[in-house]
Amino acid sequence: MRYSQMLIPTLKEDPSEAEVLSHKLMLRAGMIRKLAAGIYSYLPLAQRVLRKTEQIIREEMNRAGAQEVTLPFVQPAEIWQKSGRWNVYGKELMRLKDRNNRDFCLGPTHEEVVTELVKNEVTSYRQLPLNLYQIHIKFRDEMRPRFGIMRAREFVMKDAYSFDVDEKRAEESYQRMYQAYHNIFKRCGLTFRAVEADTGPIGGNFSHEFMVLAETGEDSIFSCNRCDYAASGDKAETGKAEDGSADNLSLGELKSVRTPNKRTVEEVTQFLKVKPEQLIKTLIFQEGDNTIAALIRGDHEINELKLQNLLKTEDLFLASDEAIEKVTKAPKGFAGPVGLDIKVFADNSLKGMKNFVTGGNEKDAHLVNVNLERDFQVDSFCDLRFAAEGDSCPRCDHGQLVMSRGIEVGHIFKLGTKYSEALGAKFLDDKGKAKYMVMGCYGIGVGRTVAASIEQNHDENGIIFPVSIAPFEVIIVSVKPKSPEVKDASERIYAALLNAGVDVILDDRDERPGIKFKDADLIGIPLRITVGAKVKDGYVDIKLRKSREAVLVKVEEIVEKVREMINSD
Ligand code: ATP
Ligand code: MG
Repeated sequence: MRYSQMLIPTLKEDPSEAEVLSHKLMLRAGMIRKLAAGIYSYLPLAQRVLRKTEQIIREEMNRAGAQEVTLPFVQPAEIWQKSGRWNVYGKELMRLKDRNNRDFCLGPTHEEVVTELVKNEVTSYRQLPLNLYQIHIKFRDEMRPRFGIMRAREFVMKDAYSFDVDEKRAEESYQRMYQAYHNIFKRCGLTFRAVEADTGPIGGNFSHEFMVLAETGEDSIFSCNRCDYAASGDKAETGKAEDGSADNLSLGELKSVRTPNKRTVEEVTQFLKVKPEQLIKTLIFQEGDNTIAALIRGDHEINELKLQNLLKTEDLFLASDEAIEKVTKAPKGFAGPVGLDIKVFADNSLKGMKNFVTGGNEKDAHLVNVNLERDFQVDSFCDLRFAAEGDSCPRCDHGQLVMSRGIEVGHIFKLGTKYSEALGAKFLDDKGKAKYMVMGCYGIGVGRTVAASIEQNHDENGIIFPVSIAPFEVIIVSVKPKSPEVKDASERIYAALLNAGVDVILDDRDERPGIKFKDADLIGIPLRITVGAKVKDGYVDIKLRKSREAVLVKVEEIVEKVREMINSD
């Protein structure tokens, strides 16, 4: 390609709308432009990067035995009603009506569609296993679209769905995808980690998120500093080594104290001059028609997802002020477990605690010297809180959890028979018995992967793409395009590289060298060949974008040298 003919509208200034570097750089490099919140046009450079990323994904998916399809983006409400998600998906699902007033939605994910397809086409165990994937547009009406194409509303996803005869085979399909994802992100040049992720009500250890490590990541990751345990912030387990820490303390006398208008952990602990870890927060939740209490230390944070999984429900929310008042007989902010007549779940960290502070179930009152067993009973001790840095590792003996930040680029998930049951996807096994197919689903955000790569690979001058996904592998900058010698040599090198199958762009613009160098750096092309005055003596410069290392190369040797440099990236 010739630069002069391409649409690469680079910007000199940082766009004010961009919060994170990848967003800023993609705008500045002329890769993307916003049409509406979370809705972007991909310009030629971005298109090339996306295509290369998609090709890597495609090759690895095919290698793992998956087959590419294209599933409809516009989906009828009926299949979503069958799976029960028409009502629970909420506002992220973009709903619309056709001219006959029938309900449709724009696909945010394709479990329903693919299950409907497979249900009609697959009837025998002989047709399984099956793994179907597509690389296609998704629409999710995100509450907070941001960071450019990293959290967009319209975005490209690779989504795959596996169908197997039983759990064991489904686990094998899952492992194949796990390996394929490793290969994909490695080939994209990313530093990443696969972390255990929440499986929701399905349970088991079959959900992993692939996280690209980056400071700006929206997700937290906990990993052990000794063993290979790593989990997402939601999932990271806690609770080990928290028993018996206050063994020697004798029990104090239970007392009610006045705490006028002091409701929050901060207000109460400052007023009573105790540390937050000596206070127990009592959170009242509504689970369907039931009200329950969750107890957790003042310095910890409740993880509602853990509570949901424990109760095997998705219908759980913090009780309203009225509901709290009804069960505690006190306004919000004064709830406590003593005398409470509902089920009480306590975080494991409470086990070793003595003489703590709780709400008094009375307006403007708290209790001090509260103790387990003596003053109240717990129905169940469990892991209810978010992990924190320094917690003991749930897997090994002496390790501690360390927190880092990541960008979730991929997610693999064992679905079990949730969708095959809902939509009736059955097959006949080798004994002629009808069974539900066991499914898995596997997503990769293609645009998010590209943005994550930029978060990891950039410097003050711009993007540093790895060769595998760069819009071009090589840029030829002719420093004086009007000089016949330079022009001629540039054209010859360009033709030779094209002939050799190198993905090359020739910057033939009539611009100052400084501008061309700046643009080449900004758009992140891994190799830059500068054709200038030295061409008279038969030499050109090759510079590596990443290391900034430059070498003088003979024009005749250029193809060989470029190949060598590309292959060593
Ligand atoms: P998140 O928690 O970030 O919203 P998710 O759990 O909703 O992600 P999945 O439903 O597992 O995401 O989708 C699979 C992949 O699609 C994600 O790993 C991510 O890479 C990508 N993805 C999800 N939402 C978006 C979005 N709004 N914009 C761009 N990519 C997205
Ligand atoms: Mg989401």
